[in-house]
Amino acid sequence: MFAGEGEPASDDLIARLAPYLDRRDGLADGERGAWLVKLRQAIDLLELEFAGIAADFAGTDAYDRAGSVSAYDWIRHNCKVSGHVAYDRVRVGEHLEQLPNACLALFEGSIGFGHLSLLAGVVKAVQESPTSKHFDEDPLLALAAAETVSKFRYTCERARHAGDPDGLAFEQLKGVEARRLELLPCEDGLFSLRGVLDPVGAGVLRTALEPLAKRNGRSDSRHRERRLADALIELAQHGRKANLMVTTSLETLLNAAGASSAEVEFSTPFSTKSVERLACDCTLTRVLLSPESVVIDVGRGRRVVSPSQRRALQRRDGGCCWPGCDRPASWTDAHHLVHWVRGGTTDLGNLVLLCHRHHWLVHEGGWQLVRTHDGRLMSVAPACDFWERIRGPDWVAA
Ligand SMILES: [Zn+2]
Ligand SMILES: [Zn+2]
Repeated sequence: MFAGEGEPASDDLIARLAPYLDRRDGLADGERGAWLVKLRQAIDLLELEFAGIAADFAGTDAYDRAGSVSAYDWIRHNCKVSGHVAYDRVRVGEHLEQLPNACLALFEGSIGFGHLSLLAGVVKAVQESPTSKHFDEDPLLALAAAETVSKFRYTCERARHAGDPDGLAFEQLKGVEARRLELLPCEDGLFSLRGVLDPVGAGVLRTALEPLAKRNGRSDSRHRERRLADALIELAQHGRKANLMVTTSLETLLNAAGASSAEVEFSTPFSTKSVERLACDCTLTRVLLSPESVVIDVGRGRRVVSPSQRRALQRRDGGCCWPGCDRPASWTDAHHLVHWVRGGTTDLGNLVLLCHRHHWLVHEGGWQLVRTHDGRLMSVAPACDFWERIRGPDWVAA
């Protein structure tokens, strides 16, 4: 721990904060909102104090003498905050002189620390710009008092663009360099996604995902995060069928008792149900193994729907055939009503178009899609309790 001169003892600090602590049990129902506002103002004032002292600290070589590579690193490590918080507080502290009215507004509670941090970002950008050096805090401050922090972020970006378009373009160029995406395997064969996108890249992705992530009919009870994840998969499959290398045995495809799971390139093993769905309409490179793990067949999936069949299906079905679904044909897969693994044929009578979600429901989700005697399609919900739990209590059968 760095031993600073005149460092206040932590128990002294706790004594000063005592009026703000341990109030949780003593607050009546009607008092909590006002108390939260008061607490946040107190935290913001502490943040302001922290930022000023952090900037002073960064202006010395104290971090160097304590063996850290930078003041940010020292603050990050010793104050137990992220690198982003350390950088932000030093930046705010370094620009307080150019923001006297904003500091007053923070004291009065008309803006929050988030607003101040954004204003400090604009000051820094203007100062570093080769073309624009003057900064007037008042016009932006008036907007800060009226806007949420999220909205004010856009306001500041616009202000920066107006005052320094080249600087903003350069910063966004650096943002492109910061782009990254990680697919991290975690427990149970799941993958966690982690990454950074620049504003333009994020805009492109969100523009593509948002229409796909809308609720798919009244019965769609998926929460927004789940719909966005489904939309990402749907987007990746769209227009270009995945060419998956699947290593499986006939026993697995037939879901025989004791058969092992299928192995798939770039992922953890799939269930038979998933392989079955992919085999419905993907360019599936099969590597079939006998039970003794001897390769018995390597080749293209010959059950893929031909381009002329797909055109005919698109004309006939127009889009997803699931009752009530309006996903257009370009966002669908061809589904075998009787799967080819079980002797179903790849001809129009046995094929229907289904969107990604409904195709998933039929294979992995336990639903059945059957043709009635008059040619209509009917979806039949699974009877098993497990699927009831997956769908949640507000599900209404389609
Ligand atoms: Zn299918
Ligand atoms: Zn559908």
